[in-house]
Formats: sequence, structure tokens, C-alpha cells
Amino acid sequence: MTIQFQLEGTRGAARAGRLVTPHGVVETPVFMPVGTLGSVKGVAQDLLEDLGVEILLGNTYHLYLRPGVETVRRMGGLHGFMAWERAILTDSGGFQVFSLNQLRKVSEEGVTFRSHLDGSSHFFSPESAMAAQIGLGADIIMALDECTEYPAGRERARASMELTLRWAERSKKYFEAHKQEVPWGSGRGKGSPPSRGDASPNDNALGGDVKCTQGLFGIVQGGMELDLRKESAERTVAIGFPGYALGGLSVGEPRERTFEVVDATIPHLPTDKPRYLMGVGTPEEVAAYAGLGIDMMDCVLPTRAARHGLLFTSGGKVSIKQARYARDESALDPNCGCRVCQRYSRAYLRHLYASGEVLAQVLNTVHNLSFYLDTVRRVRHSIRLGEGTRYHPSVCSRPKS
Ligand SMILES: [Zn+2]
Repeated sequence: MTIQFQLEGTRGAARAGRLVTPHGVVETPVFMPVGTLGSVKGVAQDLLEDLGVEILLGNTYHLYLRPGVETVRRMGGLHGFMAWERAILTDSGGFQVFSLNQLRKVSEEGVTFRSHLDGSSHFFSPESAMAAQIGLGADIIMALDECTEYPAGRERARASMELTLRWAERSKKYFEAHKQEVPWGSGRGKGSPPSRGDASPNDNALGGDVKCTQGLFGIVQGGMELDLRKESAERTVAIGFPGYALGGLSVGEPRERTFEVVDATIPHLPTDKPRYLMGVGTPEEVAAYAGLGIDMMDCVLPTRAARHGLLFTSGGKVSIKQARYARDESALDPNCGCRVCQRYSRAYLRHLYASGEVLAQVLNTVHNLSFYLDTVRRVRHSIRLGEGTRYHPSVCSRPKS
């Protein structure tokens, strides 16, 4: 197994744990900032490290189109290319194909889609989506799935679920045959770059044998049908992956429905493997899903909202563009310990935003990410309370960046 997961404590259904990846340990529950094109918009990598980000998400669809997988692979994968030595997860590209492409064509073989950049035609099969993600070299990669649209009738949800299951088998088969091709040298001595870390590739937090290659997660689908979700979970688990994602949620359904589907699906996933809920949510929702037993989450909301001047605070949402803040000397969130709230006034943040200053996007994003990370940190702490902790980070050989 290449990704290892260790449960450290539970409180009710909630779990706190450690996800051991080839590029470091990730404490869970974790919120993963989205770096679509190899960049969390507006925030440099060293600042992300300062904020305590342990894992980033990259989007295969976007990186495949620009700059292209081969360019990234030659630079040592995403880690080398973007000079980020901590963990990375890439999605399969499926969600973007389904959300950005009205003209997509799905067949048993895969999905044909048009680039949103220039209209050119492309094709993802489970195999080519794996090849792309192996080339990008994230620590955790995702099987190609069909993100079932909402609303979908029961027959449509079942057909889509069955297709995703067949694609999961094909994804795993291709991955198992090609996983040694990861650009940061899983071969350990077979042309892999020399280790820069101070630990040998076999050192890890759990004292076991962590081979330095990627971990492939399966994705549970099934639309909003609870029995299909159960079946999808059981059959995906039967295929066997080191972690499981819940996909096809947050696609337009009411929030209560999302919550219900997640809650009903979790009991059908193994307790000793990480559970990743894709594409949610507000800070309150992130905390609530962690309470249900979700270990990993990602969402563009904190970064995208920040760029639109929408800030999450302990007192609720703040739209910093409003004139009422023009002379407001107070901190954005007096209960937030982030560098933005410690230094700047609401009046200044409002001025930056109203003036279209680049710094507005940077500061707003830093605060929103801090707020999300603090929220999840508090959740972790409350789960772990009273639990002893003991671990040593694991480091694999890495490329020169
Ligand atoms: Zn703040």
C-alpha cells in the first residue's frame, strides 16, 4: 500500500487521523485548498506552508490542457513544477469535463470533450486519465468517474453508477500496471532521482513499508438514491482502493439532501480507509461533514469567494465591498489569528477591493483559507482531545525542484 491511514481518535462518528503520503503526513480531517492550475490563486507556496497547508488539490483537466502533462512530468511532476514538496491530490478530470462541457460525449470507452480554451477536441478514457495523473505525479489520484447530473432519474443514476464502476476497474488495472512511472521516482534505484529528504524511502510514521508511489482512490456515485449509494460503495470497496471518495454531490441538490446522502453512505465504507467528500462546502458544512466521519474535503469556495470580496468570519459572512466598511477601523475578524486580521483594518481591505488592487485578492484569500484551516484544526482538536499523539513524518525521495 502506498498511502497509509492511521486513526488517532474518534468522537461519535467523527475521526481524527493521519494520512501518510510519499510527500509527508496530513492530519485529518483536512481541508484541501484548490490549486487548479498548479497555483492557489493569489497565494505563493511559502505562504501556504506558513498557513499550515499539508495537502493541495490540482485539477487534471486544467493541467492537461495547459501546460500539458508532458511538460509537468519532465519537471518532476507537479511537486517539482510548482516547487511544492508537501502532498498533492489530483482529481480525475471527470468533474470538469462534466461541469464545463455542454458538448461532451460519453461512451463505454470514455468521454470526448472540447477544450474550454480553444474548442479543440479531446478524449479521456479511464486509462488516459490515469496516464495523465501518473504524469502529473500527485500523491493521491482519482479513478475516472462519471459525475451524475442533478436531477437524474433512478434508471439514469443506476446506469451512470454502473459505468463508473466499470471505469473504476479499468482505472485500477491501468494504474497497477503503470504506477512505477510516477515522475518522482517510485522505482527506488531504477532511474529515480536521489533523495533530498533526511529519511529513507522506507521510513514512515507507521513503521511499515510505504512504497514511494501514488495512491489511487475510488469514487462512489449513485446520484441521490440512497440504495444506489450503498451498492456503489460496496462494489467500489470490493474492487479495493486505499481510500474512497464521495462524488456527484454539491451538484445543485439541496444541502439537506447532500448531508443525507453522505450520512447514509459512510456506514458502507471501511473504517480504516480515508473518506474524501469532493467539492464541499461552507466552513459550517465542512465542520458538519467532519462530524459525520469525513476525513478529507476540498472546495473552491474560500478562494473563489475571497476574490469576490466575500469573507468568512466568526461573526458570519462579510461582503467587504460594502460602503459601511469604508471607515471601519476594526479587524476583519477579531477572533481570527491570521496575519491579515492581525494587521489590517476592514477600511483598508475595503479600499483595496474597491480600487481593484491585486493585494485585495491576496489578503482576502489568505484570510479565508486561514479561517477554513482554523475551523478544521479546531474540529481535529476536539476529536483528539485527551488522545495521545505520536508520529514521525514520512519523506520519500523527491526531484530537485
Ligand atoms: Zn483572518
